[in-house]
Amino acid sequence: MVTSQRTNFGTSSERPFVVRGRLISQSSHRSSVLSTNSAISSNQHNQRENPNSPSSESEQQSNYSPANPLVVDNVVSVQTLFAHLNHIIRFTKIYHQDQNLFLRYLARAELRYLIWLNLLDQLRPQPDSIPMPPLDVALFWCAHTTNVLTYKEDLVRLFGEHMLDYNFPLLHMDAINAEGEDYVDADSSETWQSFSDEPYILEFDDHRPFLISCPFCMEGNTIDPDTYVQLKMNAVSHSCENCSLELNADILSAKRLLNDIQYFLLDDVNCLAGTLLDTEKNQIDIYMAVNDNKLLFDHDFIRELIRLVSPVYTGIASPPSLYVPNITKNCNWHNIQREFSAVLYRLEMQGELCNVRKNILSKIITAYQNLFTPFSLDLIAAVIRYKETVEKILCNGDWENENVVAVSTVRYHKFMMLTEKHPDRILVPTMDILLCWYTHMLWPSKYYAFTIGLTGKILDHVNSLSESKMIANFEKTALLWHKKYQEPYTSEDPSKKWKSSSRVVMSFVFPVYGLYVAQKLWKLNKTHDKRIGPGGSVHMSMYITSGSNDINSLERRGPYTFGVNIEDSELMNYQDNMGSPPSRVFTYINPEIQIT
Ligand SMILES: [Zn+2]
Repeated sequence: MVTSQRTNFGTSSERPFVVRGRLISQSSHRSSVLSTNSAISSNQHNQRENPNSPSSESEQQSNYSPANPLVVDNVVSVQTLFAHLNHIIRFTKIYHQDQNLFLRYLARAELRYLIWLNLLDQLRPQPDSIPMPPLDVALFWCAHTTNVLTYKEDLVRLFGEHMLDYNFPLLHMDAINAEGEDYVDADSSETWQSFSDEPYILEFDDHRPFLISCPFCMEGNTIDPDTYVQLKMNAVSHSCENCSLELNADILSAKRLLNDIQYFLLDDVNCLAGTLLDTEKNQIDIYMAVNDNKLLFDHDFIRELIRLVSPVYTGIASPPSLYVPNITKNCNWHNIQREFSAVLYRLEMQGELCNVRKNILSKIITAYQNLFTPFSLDLIAAVIRYKETVEKILCNGDWENENVVAVSTVRYHKFMMLTEKHPDRILVPTMDILLCWYTHMLWPSKYYAFTIGLTGKILDHVNSLSESKMIANFEKTALLWHKKYQEPYTSEDPSKKWKSSSRVVMSFVFPVYGLYVAQKLWKLNKTHDKRIGPGGSVHMSMYITSGSNDINSLERRGPYTFGVNIEDSELMNYQDNMGSPPSRVFTYINPEIQIT
């Protein structure tokens, strides 16, 4: 049932935000979302305040007959989408205007998420009856799943394939959350606390120090939270309390890489991050991984490098000064890049370079450089990006309207059919489709099987494209969609860039160019309509709205480094030609559904 109490999000701080009967104080929601200054652009605000805006139009057209919803892959349904929306609302509340406190919270949450994965691995609960994760852990888990390939590789590499059987307990958590905002499931809380010795609810004013183990002398170091955050950003170094070595993200992550190479050389089941997935289907391919790891790292000079940065125990208390020159000189990324160049040169001389997968070294570097937790991506940056995106999703849909949610399932189905037809293209989703996509990813094993059946490979979700590439790909997606379905794709005009004043001037100066622009505009004009969906009742915004307002406020203030750009290597994955015959794996459980 859809409540009749319809609100226009963002117009009043007094009215409740309504998602399927779940009343959540809008004032608290607004404060958390608005204070990020990133989820809602001023343009979007204006649209909401403006009675002629598309969302107001959709409000006025609320009497259209509801669309027949689909259930895609037994997972993406109206029920799971509502549960996911409720969950996203809870995520938007994880924010603190004091940036240091916010980053501390995220840094602590990252480590708690790692503890959570250990809990699943060690307690091995039945996949359909796992305890409920704390909210901060849930945020990291959801964000991690949207980095599809990294998630898969991280879980298999760190724990084993059995971890992919664990789905995010979306419906169970939603049922528990329905008990009230502050309700805590006692059993889950007890399981978590007895395993982790951590509080179930993470507070922003948690001032406990962080503990890191010096990878050279193995002694534990306590670090105050702000220093830890700065250390993660490679902005400071910390002098080890025991061996006095200056530890920073560069040294720590270089040591992490060399440790992993050492583990591989001891036992070749321990392949490095970035090497486990094959480049065709994005499936785990141990044979290929072992082959590449051996060719790249099984060299005497790599063993010598590992020896140089390894502690030597004399049995006498700390003689660290003996080792410092070797370690600081060798254990850094400048030196590692030099060693890697030597590896490539040697392989080329031996005629072996062709036997190593292209770009595998850059994938390894991406998975290690400046990252000193076991994950192979900057998970804090990924969470910030994820939060920003889901806040946009929340603000760009008339989500309290069940019809909107129902139409989203249909459009997601169509989007996946388009992917099936164009497996080599990066298709950019609209907000409604993205919500469905993210929901699907919360069931990792199902998602892998589904997209392999559809496109011949596990479909990655590229979220690191530059804005210009994203807009260009969105434009192409809108054109492909219109060509296939003869209907508009988005409620926003994807031809904005062709209407800029500079292009208009250029068109007058160079008439041939003018004709080209006119043709583009003519084609793109068909791809959007402010009233998308059956009965014209759905307003959906495009994924990226152009303009500087979309820049993450944290990013703009520049305190957080966002890792290595993996755009090109991901593009390479997408450009692989896939030859497997696709098969349909959609499931429809609603007998009224008609697919045309
Ligand atoms: Zn030390």
